[in-house]
Amino acid sequence: MNSSGLPPKKAKRLLNFSKKVGRGINRFDMIQDGDELLLGISGGKDSLCLSLALALRLFRVPITYTLKAVFIEWREHPITSQQKEALLSFFKELHIPLEIIRAQMVPPSFKGVFNCYLCSRNKKRILFDAAAKLGIHKIALGHHLDDFIETTLMNICFRGEFSTMMPVQTFFKGTLKIVRPLCEVTEKEIERIARTVTLPVISINCPKKDSNQRIIMKEIIKKLSRINKRVRENIYNVPWRINEKYLPSRLNHRFK
Ligand code: SF4
Repeated sequence: MNSSGLPPKKAKRLLNFSKKVGRGINRFDMIQDGDELLLGISGGKDSLCLSLALALRLFRVPITYTLKAVFIEWREHPITSQQKEALLSFFKELHIPLEIIRAQMVPPSFKGVFNCYLCSRNKKRILFDAAAKLGIHKIALGHHLDDFIETTLMNICFRGEFSTMMPVQTFFKGTLKIVRPLCEVTEKEIERIARTVTLPVISINCPKKDSNQRIIMKEIIKKLSRINKRVRENIYNVPWRINEKYLPSRLNHRFK
């Protein structure tokens, strides 16, 4: 055992994870000294691992930043008091103040329509409002490398465009930023961390959770990875390896 209370192998795994998160942060210049960040917590392993990594990183880096967290509790899917307690005590241990906001997953403005696009927009709006109320200009989300590559393929296949998820994304003329510090960590690595430490994971019983486009892409990427082990890395790197020689010059020429 060591000062973290974990056996050496597990403590090393945690340290390596935190270092890998740091690499993504540095590569995209996500966090500066004195920053205040709002963590968007879904209750899933990704956002909980993100909170852990950012809290641990404070012990290793020569800069300092403050963290606050927001968990959206959907009125349609309220969490139990035990889940609430576990969540609050996890964040208390990390010294991150956590606010629980209650909101509607399907507000009347959706007019009976519900899908992942509307749901994500709704979550983003709630987080933006929370950040504005707290006077915070940077929001950190738990999207990982697999989310990035799934988004790239989803945009090609379902939207017909070359675009991806951004490690750093600016809004409102640069006054608000979303950063994604887990951009270079795979889902598998996050699952390993989730087995290393006890996380108060909350899974929401969303009707779309087993049938959305992301799930379809996950399966396709899994199959492709069996053919070539570097498929994940390759797709992730596409936005930084544009071969303009092989892109059409007449951008208005579209196949119909
Ligand atoms: S799976 Fe459910 S919770 Fe997740 S984005 Fe889609 S609708 Fe929202």
